[in-house]
Amino acid sequence: MRWPIPSTPSVWKTRRPPDLKQSMKTPVYLDYAATTPVDPAVAELMAGYLTLDGVFGNPASRSHGYGWQAEAAVENARRQVAQLIGADPREIVWTSGATESDNLAIKGAVGANCNPDVRPHIITSAIEHKAVLDTCSWLEGQGCDVTRLTPDATGQIALSQVEQALRPETLLVSLMLVNNELGTINDIGKIGDMLRERGVLFHVDAAQAAGKVPVNVSDLNADLVALSAHKVYGPKGVGALYVRRSPDVRIEAQIHGGGHERGMRSGTLPTHQIVGMGKAFDMAGELLENEMARLEALRSRFLEAVGELEGVTLNGHETQRVPGIINLSFDGIEAESLMLGLRELAVSSGSACASATMEPSYVLTAIGLSEAQAHAGLRFSLGRFSTDEEVDFAAGQVVSVVERLRERRRTSA
Ligand SMILES: *Cc1c(COP(=O)(O)O)cnc(C)c1O
Repeated sequence: MRWPIPSTPSVWKTRRPPDLKQSMKTPVYLDYAATTPVDPAVAELMAGYLTLDGVFGNPASRSHGYGWQAEAAVENARRQVAQLIGADPREIVWTSGATESDNLAIKGAVGANCNPDVRPHIITSAIEHKAVLDTCSWLEGQGCDVTRLTPDATGQIALSQVEQALRPETLLVSLMLVNNELGTINDIGKIGDMLRERGVLFHVDAAQAAGKVPVNVSDLNADLVALSAHKVYGPKGVGALYVRRSPDVRIEAQIHGGGHERGMRSGTLPTHQIVGMGKAFDMAGELLENEMARLEALRSRFLEAVGELEGVTLNGHETQRVPGIINLSFDGIEAESLMLGLRELAVSSGSACASATMEPSYVLTAIGLSEAQAHAGLRFSLGRFSTDEEVDFAAGQVVSVVERLRERRRTSA
C-alpha cells in the first residue's frame, strides 16, 4: 500500500471516495531516473545497522563480535550485488556511488596500465554521464588523448565506430549500458567481445541498467562496471565497482588510507548503506521480470494518452530501451515553459542551468536534434511506485498544458 488509509475505517466509509487529486501525492514523481525513493523494506533493514542495539561495529574490526557481525553483513550484501550482475563477490568494490565508481574505473585503469613512453588513448561517447565525461576531460588535461564518439539518432554507438577509433595506444573504452536521458540500451556485449580480443580494457557505466534490465558481466564482456544504489530503490551515497578477476584487471586506488577493499578503495565501510544496497539489489533481481512488464504497460498507457497530441517526438530507441524512461519533444514548445505549466508533475528537462542561459541537453544535441528540438525535450521516468492513476493524471496534464501553450502561441502570433 502506498497511500496512508485513514486509521478510522468507519469515517472512511461515510465519506465519498477521494477523487484522483486527493488520493494522489502531488507533484506526481516522474523522475525515477534522477533518483528513486528507498524501498520501505530497505529502509527498515538499514535502521538495524546504526544504533547500539543494532549492528553498528566497524566491519574492519577483527578483535570482537561487533566487527565480525558487521563484516558478515557487508559480505552478504557483496554476494547480493554480485548476484544481480552475474559476478563473483570478490569482484565487487564498494564506493560512494556511480560517480566515484566511474572515476575509480577510468583514472584507476589509466594509472595502473599506462606505459610511460606512450600517450594513453581513451574512447568514450558524447552522451556519457558527466561522471565519465568530466573524468575523461580531466585525464585529457593530464596528457591523455580522448576520442568522443557521436551516437546515432537513437543514442546507440555502433561496434564499427569503436573499431575505427581504436589505435595501438588505446588503453580504455568507456561506454554506458543504458543512457540516463533517453533510456537507450547500447549493444555492449558485441563491443566488449571485440575489445577483449584486441586486449583493450572496457569500462561500462551500468547505473541506469542494473535492476532495470537483465545485466550479466559475462555477456557484457566488460572489465569494469559502475553501479549505484539510489537508482534502484537503495540509499544515496553508496555504489560499487565491478572489477574483473579473470582475466585479472588492475586499477590504481584513488583514495588512500587503510587499504580496505583489497587496496582499491580505502575508508571505513558504511555498513548500513552497504546492507541497503545489497537488499535493494536483491529485491531488484526478484522483481525484475514483473517490474519490466508493469513499467512497459505504464509506458504504453502514457504514450497512448499523450499521442492524442500532434507533433510529439519520442527521443531515443523504439525497442532497445528501458521501459521506465520516456523522453519526448513537443513541436514549438520549450521544455522550460512546459515544465512551468506542469507544476503538478516532477519531471526533468535534461537542460542544465548554466549561468543566465539555459543550455539544451548535450545528449539530445549529440543525437542530432536541433537546438530548438533539444530545448523541447522532457524526460518522464517511471518506477516501482508509479501507478495507472499517476500516469493518467500526468498524461492529462501534459495534453492540456501543451494545448494551452500552443493556443497561446497561435493567438499571440
Ligand atoms: C546517476 C548516474 C550516475 C551517478 O551515480 P551516483 O551514484 O549518483 O554518483 C552515473 N552514471 C549514470 C548513467 C547515472 O544515471
